[in-house]
Amino acid sequence: MKVLYIGGYSRSGSTMLLRVLGEATGTVAIGELIYIWERGYLQDQLCGCGERFRRCPFWNEVSQAVFGVPSDKAPGSEMASLQHRVHGYATFPSLWLPALRSPAHRRALGEYGDVVDRMYRAIAEISGAHVVIDSSKVPQFARVLTEVPGLELHVAHLVRDSRGSAYSWQRKKVRTEIHWTTQHMDRHSLLRSSVEWDAFNLLFGVDRERPRSYTLIRYEDLVKDPGPLLASLAERIGEPGIAAELRSTRDEVGLKVSHTVAGNPSRFSSGKTRIAADDEWRTAMPAGHRLFVTAVTAPLLRRYRYPLQVTSRKAARQPVPGVG
Ligand SMILES: [Zn+2]
Repeated sequence: MKVLYIGGYSRSGSTMLLRVLGEATGTVAIGELIYIWERGYLQDQLCGCGERFRRCPFWNEVSQAVFGVPSDKAPGSEMASLQHRVHGYATFPSLWLPALRSPAHRRALGEYGDVVDRMYRAIAEISGAHVVIDSSKVPQFARVLTEVPGLELHVAHLVRDSRGSAYSWQRKKVRTEIHWTTQHMDRHSLLRSSVEWDAFNLLFGVDRERPRSYTLIRYEDLVKDPGPLLASLAERIGEPGIAAELRSTRDEVGLKVSHTVAGNPSRFSSGKTRIAADDEWRTAMPAGHRLFVTAVTAPLLRRYRYPLQVTSRKAARQPVPGVG
């Protein structure tokens, strides 16, 4: 069972990567499986197809295959609590240091891994795909997946300039999937998004030897010229056919409707979609904010070859006095 996990920090363009990959023959893009219990089974938020989760025919088939019942009868809250015992924040030390695991934690890990494995297999079978693409992003779920026997896990670690993702965390965006009221996406302080950016990216670096393959992709390179990067990712996960298909990806793609759980509101759009760099932060982010995020994330920014000093585009375009 082959799973391609898109890892990294939120607001890094993962929904776009997910959906473009999901267009290739033999793949299925499912969004962020980590949130399926809470936001899907329990809160009945909208699936990417526009239907309420518990009414979506695709997920009903999956529920039937995994639990033997339709989505509204599935044990969503039991699964959410099991998930919390497996990789809630309190478990982090023992997740990364197995010697610290209690017998109860080990049992929960085995039990949860088994359900997730059955989910992926049902998803593959029902969609007719052999590569499931999960954009859950967080490192703790990826860590759990590396321990599931029989699962061939590949990680695409997507990194975006920390200043771009911190800026995005400050913007106001409506959550389309909350159909019963108007709710905005969470907004994080600069400190929180900078520290989490560091932590999430660091943990994927630490675990890079654990999955079957690990590919680091910079968002900025991906949006500039997606074809070659997507093709080399597909090669690395052992899918030459998909690589050949994706190599010709340009800045415009046609997206089908998909059954994605959670993620950026852009998951609801379909049809012709432009892949373009979202670099509003370069001109709109206050200099003080930029400096703050740069200071907190400098070591990793350097490691990923991002310049610490950013000249805003506006300034760069101004003519140099005395020249021309
Ligand atoms: Zn659906």
